[in-house]
Amino acid sequence: MTQIVVGIDTPTGVLINGEVRAASDGGTFEVTDPATAQVLATVANGTLDDAAACVDSAEAAADGWAATSPRERSGILMKAFDLMIEREQQIAELIVRENGKALSDALGEVRYAAEFFRWYAEEAVRVRGEIQTAPSGANRIMVIHQPIGISLLITPWNFPAAMATRKIGPALAAGCTVILKPASETPLTALAVGAILAEAGVPDGVVNVLPSRRSGAVADQILHDPRVRKLSFTGSTEVGRRLLRTAADRVISCSMELGGNAPFVVLDDADLDKAVAGAMLAKMRNGGEACTAANRIYVQRPIAEEFAARLARAMEALTVGPGLDVGTEVGPLINDDAITKIEELVADATARGARILTGGEKAQGSGYFYPPTVLADVDGDSQILGEEIFGPVAPVVVFDTDEEAIERANATEYGLVSYVFTTDLSRGLRVSEALDSGMVGLNRGVVSDAAAPFGGTKQSGLGREGGHEGLLEYAESKYVAVDW
Ligand code: NAP
Repeated sequence: MTQIVVGIDTPTGVLINGEVRAASDGGTFEVTDPATAQVLATVANGTLDDAAACVDSAEAAADGWAATSPRERSGILMKAFDLMIEREQQIAELIVRENGKALSDALGEVRYAAEFFRWYAEEAVRVRGEIQTAPSGANRIMVIHQPIGISLLITPWNFPAAMATRKIGPALAAGCTVILKPASETPLTALAVGAILAEAGVPDGVVNVLPSRRSGAVADQILHDPRVRKLSFTGSTEVGRRLLRTAADRVISCSMELGGNAPFVVLDDADLDKAVAGAMLAKMRNGGEACTAANRIYVQRPIAEEFAARLARAMEALTVGPGLDVGTEVGPLINDDAITKIEELVADATARGARILTGGEKAQGSGYFYPPTVLADVDGDSQILGEEIFGPVAPVVVFDTDEEAIERANATEYGLVSYVFTTDLSRGLRVSEALDSGMVGLNRGVVSDAAAPFGGTKQSGLGREGGHEGLLEYAESKYVAVDW
C-alpha cells in the first residue's frame, strides 16, 4: 500500500512482518498538509487485530534479532544512517508536507534523526558489563545487559523522524524488536523510516509500524500483552500519565519524554548578540513547536528593554510561509487547535498588561499560520508562563536578582531544559546547578545531541534518550553471582 507524495512512492499501510498492508478492516484516515489545510494522503488506520499482528511479528523476530552479533546490528544501523543522509532531501520534503515546518528545519531534523542510527551503530559494540569480587570475598558479582524484549514506541508529530530514530536506534542496538505507533498527524515519515531500515537489512518483523487513530485502544491492548516488556513514549505529559497508569497493570518498564516549559535566563552581563541569537534558536527551531522551546524568557532588569527590542527585530525579520517555499524560515503550525490555543494565551497575557512588540495576530487565508510574536512586560501570573506555548510566541519577563531568576525558572511542574546566558562562567555554572531540569544550555540555544542524555526531571519524564544511557533503557541488567 503506497501513494505518491513529494514525487516518491511512500508507504501508507501498516508495516507488519516486513509487509506494508491495508488495515485488517480496510479502514483509513487522512493526513493533512498544514500549509494548505488540504488532504495530503490517506493512511491505513491500524486496528486491534493489526496491533496483535504487530506483537506476533515482533515476537517471531525477537530471538533471531537478539542473537545477531553486535557487529551485525551495528552494520545495519550504519547503513540506515547512510541511506537517510543520502535521501535527506526527500525525507525532509515529506516532513514539510505532513508537519508544516520550514525545509531548513526539516533538513536539520533528518540529519539529527540519522545521527541516532550512527551513534547507536557505534554504541551497539560497546555494551560493557561489570565484574567484581563481592565485598565478602565469597564470590564474584557479574553483571550483563540483555535486551529487554518487545518494545512499544509511541512518538509525537513535532519531530516525526527524530523521535522515531531516537527510540528505534537504541532498541535495535540493544537487540530488541519494536512496534512504532507514530502520531496520526505525521505517519508518513515514520513509514518512510521503516522502509529505510528494511533496505538497510533489518530482518522482517524487527521493526513494525502501526499508524492508527485508535491510539488509546491499540496502546492499551499492546501494553496488556504479556509478551511486551517496554514502553518508550514521547508526547504530552497528560497522555504520558495515562500511559504510565496502563503500564502499571503489568509493571512494564517505561521511558517517558514528556512536555516542557523551558525558562531562558539572560543575566545582566550576557553578550546580548549571543543571547538574542540563542533565544532565536531556542524559541524558533521548528517554529516553536518543540518540547525544548524557550517558553519563558527571563531577562535581568538593566538589559531587559534592549534585549526585548533586539529580539523583536530578529523575530520580525523572519519569513513566514509554506515550508517548501524558497526563503521560508517559519512554516505553519500543525493545526487549527494550535492557533486557537496561542490566541487564547496571547489574549490572556495582554489582558494582564503585556505589550506586543511584534506579531500578535493570526494571518488571514488558508493554512495554519501565526506570526513570530514578542510580548514584553508579561505578568508573572499569565497563563502563557504556565503552559507549553508550542508556537512562535516569546514572552519576556523582567527579574532583579539571580536568586529570583532561579526561583521563577523552577516554579513549574516541568523540568526538561533550561537556558542561561552570561559571560561569567562561574555564575553560569552556579545557576545551571540550581536549575531543576534534566538539561541546561549554558550560552547555547540548542542542547539536542545524539551523544548526550536527553530527558527531564519532575513531570517532564522518566529516563534518558541518547548517549549510552539511551541504550541501557532497552536492556535488562542481569546479575550472576559466580563462585569459581
Ligand atoms: P500527544 O498528544 O501526547 O501524542 C503523542 C503520541 O501519543 C501520538 O502518537 C498520539 O497518537 C499518542 N496518543 C494520544 N493519546 C493516546 C492514548 N490515550 N494512548 C496512547 N497513545 C496516545 O503529543 P503531541 O501533541 O503529538 O506532541 C506534543 C507533545 O510532545 C508536547 O507536549 C511536547 O512537549 C512533547 N514532546 C516531548 C519531547 C521530549 O523529548 N520530552 C519531544 C517532543 C515532543 P495520535 O496522534 O494518534 O493521537
